[in-house]
Amino acid sequence: MDTFSCINCKTKTIIEYKNYSFWESGGKHTISNLKFYVCPECGEEYIDSETSRIIDRELEKIQENE
Ligand SMILES: [Zn+2]
Repeated sequence: MDTFSCINCKTKTIIEYKNYSFWESGGKHTISNLKFYVCPECGEEYIDSETSRIIDRELEKIQENE
């Protein structure tokens, strides 16, 4: 899988799968094994369009359940 260079320091990012937590509608929600691109140099984290779609879908689900 191809990665890109960090915007801050131009280091090649690496792919890491981590849990992502956010607060929505007064509750904490966690999505597990979300794909992040992490810069090993400065620690900056990036998500791609696929990951942001997953987050958007989760947000929609939460809002529908209200
Ligand atoms: Zn960096």
